[in-house]
Amino acid sequence: MTKTSIESLRRQIAAQRASGAKWREVGIDYPSVPLGTLCRIAKDETYEPRTPRLRAKLGLALMPVEVEPCGHCGGVHVRKTCPSRMPSSRTQRSRERRAELNRIAQVAGWQSWSKYVSAVQRGAVRIERADSVG
Ligand SMILES: [Zn+2]
Repeated sequence: MTKTSIESLRRQIAAQRASGAKWREVGIDYPSVPLGTLCRIAKDETYEPRTPRLRAKLGLALMPVEVEPCGHCGGVHVRKTCPSRMPSSRTQRSRERRAELNRIAQVAGWQSWSKYVSAVQRGAVRIERADSVG
C-alpha cells in the first residue's frame, strides 16, 4: 500500500471539511484517530504526527530516522560495531579457546588440537589418566 504524505492528508481533510463534512464525519475515514488530531492536522501546517501507531492509522509512512554511515566500510549497521571489523565476542572467545587448545596440543607434540582429536578418534592415540601413570 502506498503511503500518504502529510500534505496530501491535510488537503484530503481540508477538502472534506470544505464540502461541508462535520469533524465526526471526517473521522469515519480515520478509525480510532482522535478528532482533535484530525483538526490539528488540517489547521496547523507545522504539525505532523510522530508516533508510529498514529502514523499507521493515518496511512502515513514512518518518520525517517537519521543514520550515520560506518566509518570503516561506509555501510549502515543496526548494531553499534561494524560486523566486518569487530568479531563478535562469542567468535572472539571461541577463537581464544581454540588458540589455547592448539597451544596445549603443540606442547604434546601435535601440529594442532584438531590433528590430536582426529588421531584420538582414529584410535591412533591411547589416552591415560595422569594419576594412573607411573
Ligand atoms: Zn562497517
